[in-house]
Amino acid sequence: MQDLKVLTKEEKEGLDVPRISEDQVAENSFGKKVYIESYGCQMNFADSEVVTSILQENGYVTTSNVKEAHTILLNTCAIRENAEHKIRHRLQVFTHLKAKNPALTVGILGCMAERLKTKLIDEEKIVDLVAGPDAYRDLPALLDEVSDGQKAINVFLSREETYGNIEPVRLNSNGVTAMVSIMRGCDNMCTFCVVPYTRGRERSRDLPSIIAECEKLFQQGYREVTLLGQNVDSYKWTSEEGQLVNFAQLLEAVAIVNPLLRVRFSTSHPKDITDEVLYTMKKYDNICKNIHLPAQSGSNRILELMKRSYTREWYLDRIKSIRNILGEECGVSQDMIAGFCTETEEDHQDTLSLLADVEYDFGYMFAYSERPGTPAEKKLTDDVPEEVKMRRLQEIIDLQRIHSANRNEMWVGRKVQVLVEGDSKKSKLHHFGKIDSNKVVVFPKGNEVKGDYVFVNVNHCTSGTLLGELC
Ligand code: SAM
Ligand code: SF4
Repeated sequence: MQDLKVLTKEEKEGLDVPRISEDQVAENSFGKKVYIESYGCQMNFADSEVVTSILQENGYVTTSNVKEAHTILLNTCAIRENAEHKIRHRLQVFTHLKAKNPALTVGILGCMAERLKTKLIDEEKIVDLVAGPDAYRDLPALLDEVSDGQKAINVFLSREETYGNIEPVRLNSNGVTAMVSIMRGCDNMCTFCVVPYTRGRERSRDLPSIIAECEKLFQQGYREVTLLGQNVDSYKWTSEEGQLVNFAQLLEAVAIVNPLLRVRFSTSHPKDITDEVLYTMKKYDNICKNIHLPAQSGSNRILELMKRSYTREWYLDRIKSIRNILGEECGVSQDMIAGFCTETEEDHQDTLSLLADVEYDFGYMFAYSERPGTPAEKKLTDDVPEEVKMRRLQEIIDLQRIHSANRNEMWVGRKVQVLVEGDSKKSKLHHFGKIDSNKVVVFPKGNEVKGDYVFVNVNHCTSGTLLGELC
């Protein structure tokens, strides 16, 4: 376990702010400046945009400067133990801020709030407010409770809440790409996963509000939307007239908003992704040819223990369909877990051979982290030693790196269309953007601006980036 008490030098220096009395706080914008920090998956980042919208409607203003905030909200992740450690460590940092400004409110939102509930308030004295992912409409009332001197908590999980009628306020936006939440929760109950317990039952957002949000984003100059859900392929919504809309139909409805609006989506579940979805992707040039298809393991025995509801053969058949319908160029990425309960060396070799069979463009790879309350924690034994998990994880990462480089090589010497997203991180003289299969391209600037589509000749690549010149 890491030592949660230790602050780095920079963190201590970052807290060197003048003391503020409660009276001063009240004078300064009536105590309504909120600073939000988000952790974890894209859904959490999208949720913070919903939270900001709800708070702004209620007279709050957001600040990116934590030192001037009256309220700090951490939108948290609980997927692995170290995600929660990170938050507890961050709270240590804020303890020093609160010592200097006793009127400061600290709230925990999201999955860690939902998982730990009142325990968070008991264990972390600095925490004033705890709100689960379905309780964000209640935040203004919860903040009022805190300003009345009470601790406030709402961790009620809803079967209906989709925040469909709330227009998110884009945070840290490049003005080109935006996330659009299409569903919430998950019904899959993979044995390792805490999401069904922290985000509740699966529910889909109504189609008209999704389309209205995408249309508005396009009018505002955005050129790419990513449709978000834990399992987008199980999207289903029924109109008042009784018409059932599935994910392929939703995808088509978003694609026709405007041919210049690129559409991406995440995450697909291998058991649910249909050929209808793949053919819809093929039909529309603006639906990006990239699929994130988490495998988690290449071993049938482990997939069964994980209750993933597919076999390695089924998974490979889905990959075959992707290649048949969308071709070799379609980007495919994975999530993989190393060292799940009872995983043997042979199971691990099956994972490495799945990587070799598919040759993914990209991957998110994790060592198994047992989560309290999950079926795996209750019924299985987390028996793979930490050093073995780490060694296996490293082998998966090393192989993926080779494949990422190979897949990038495929683009060298080609002319690609790039949506420009902004300045390259390394040089103001270069722009960066993505091709539709989600590869980052960096090239010297011409006259183009953010949001333009340009053609670039790819000259070379690294395992993470394509490098080229404007055509
Ligand atoms: N819904 C998506 C799916 O089914 O693929 C993924 C959701 S989860 C937020 C993202 C990834 O975290 C999972 O695909 C899995 O690889 C990883 N993950 C989830 N629980 C984990 C655990 N207990 N230990 C390690 N990794 C985990
Ligand atoms: Fe978790 Fe499985 Fe649901 Fe993904 S599909 S969120 S891994 S339970």
